Amino acid sequence: MGKLLNLPFQLDAMPQALTIQIPSNILEAIYAGAKELYPRESFLLLRGNKNKGAISITDLILAPFAIHGEGEVHFNPYMFSGDLSLVGTVHSHPSGNISPSHTDLNYFFGRVLMIVGYPYEGHTCIAAYDSNADKIPIEITAPLACRDEDFYEEDFYEEEDL
Ligand SMILES: [Zn+2]
Repeated sequence: MGKLLNLPFQLDAMPQALTIQIPSNILEAIYAGAKELYPRESFLLLRGNKNKGAISITDLILAPFAIHGEGEVHFNPYMFSGDLSLVGTVHSHPSGNISPSHTDLNYFFGRVLMIVGYPYEGHTCIAAYDSNADKIPIEITAPLACRDEDFYEEDFYEEEDL
């Protein structure tokens, strides 16, 4: 029995494998918003369910007080302290580089940091990371019946012209 103690402790500390499932139409909506704001960054909150090591994204939410400017995008995470269905955030990288920046990791919120990169097409312009900046595999799933189909039809970004 004593030999077991020689096993590296890392075996126990290994994080649970996680997968992100994102319906194709939600991914398209993220891409559409990112294209609309290009060359600025878009920023949205992700709502979803966690089930046996998989996080399924079910909704996108525009973050209140998000500022889409020349610099970083900020919002107040304390606004959402009561909403347990928020699983993380997604924002765009107009540079096309889908690696997280130091700022992205410092502002990590929820379980998953998702980044989409220009040109916002297909399966290779998206990546997801955990709070250690380790990549989480993404599975693109069948389109979800959206209760808010007009999400991007409305002029959510109009206030930028103020
Ligand atoms: Zn970023």
